[in-house]
Amino acid sequence: MRQIIIIGSGPAGYTAAIYAARAQLNPLLIASSVEAGGELMNTTDVENFPGFPEGIMGPDLMMKMQEQAEKFGTEVVLDDVESLDLTGPIKSVTLGNGETHEALSVIFATGSAYRKLGLDDEERLSGRGVSWCATCDGFFFKGKTIAMIGGGDSAMEEATFLTRFADKVYVVYRGDTLRASKIMQERAFANDKIEFIYNSTVVGITGENAVDGLTLKNSVSGAESHLEVGGVFIAIGNDPRTHLVHKQLDLTPDGTIAVAGRTSKTSQTGVFAAGDVIDPTYRQAITAAASGTVAALDAEHYLSTLPQALLSQAVLSQAESAAPSLVTATLSN
Ligand code: NDP
Repeated sequence: MRQIIIIGSGPAGYTAAIYAARAQLNPLLIASSVEAGGELMNTTDVENFPGFPEGIMGPDLMMKMQEQAEKFGTEVVLDDVESLDLTGPIKSVTLGNGETHEALSVIFATGSAYRKLGLDDEERLSGRGVSWCATCDGFFFKGKTIAMIGGGDSAMEEATFLTRFADKVYVVYRGDTLRASKIMQERAFANDKIEFIYNSTVVGITGENAVDGLTLKNSVSGAESHLEVGGVFIAIGNDPRTHLVHKQLDLTPDGTIAVAGRTSKTSQTGVFAAGDVIDPTYRQAITAAASGTVAALDAEHYLSTLPQALLSQAVLSQAESAAPSLVTATLSN
């Protein structure tokens, strides 16, 4: 049994791990089997994370966070959580490999997932010209005309990035006033490979085996039109990843995990949440990292209130799994 298990490997999870590890809580961090590192793994330059005046690539930032967490004793497991039991004083977390880990506290930092348009064509042509990750797939669109759907910072950033490969990028936005920050808008406006199409929603993606166009509907006139493109990137936001805790933790009307005030305390004693999974508003790497700090400090305080016998049990079983022969020898002496 552990004192603490952290689920999620974005800035919130790793920051919580750095704090918990430095507090000698020997955290186990479940990092996911395919998406370790969280959303920043899909980002190029991160220019707004303090301490990196020249900017840093998203994946490099995440590698540094993991390295820092491991340096202080965090054990990182690359697997998915299959199920959780968060009730009672001892929580259990079952992984895809069938192993079940127990802990006295859990920090839930599972972030958010790409939002989808909800079209059948989107699923049908996923990986055949439909993508949610410019960094991962941009290279495949060399010399093509493509579309980017969305009007936020992600859409601006990714459209700009995609002009490294594509000859032309249409940004298709459902409104008439972009949501993106001014600096990101200006960068996209200044790029002569980018053209904006406003007041338009995607009602269809065409192509038999690969994307060859979009069916757009003008939200003012109601008219439908066809836009010829060889690929479409979707950057319309993210939804909190809460499917594992449905019916176990209270959620907010936004779909995020409900926490008490400015703390990370969820509706279940001993369970804390941090990062995008509790934040419908700010969703920045730095706010997620700060939120991970709050969760680690809350968990540390919670653990200090538990009966000594329970804590000793956790510490002993951690030591046993780290060096079984040593503990057996110590106990028998
Ligand atoms: P946002 O939620 O900010 O923007 C989503 C965009 O997609 C909005 O323009 C929205 O339209 C549109 N949209 C949502 N649903 C649909 C739909 N079903 N069909 C069509 N369009 C839709 O998400 P982002 O991912 O852009 O950004 C998330 C956060 O991350 C923000 O806080 C942002 O500032 C930050 N970020 C920062 C970056 C940086 O600083 N380097 C880079 C990327 C992100 P509408 O405007 O009409 O609601």
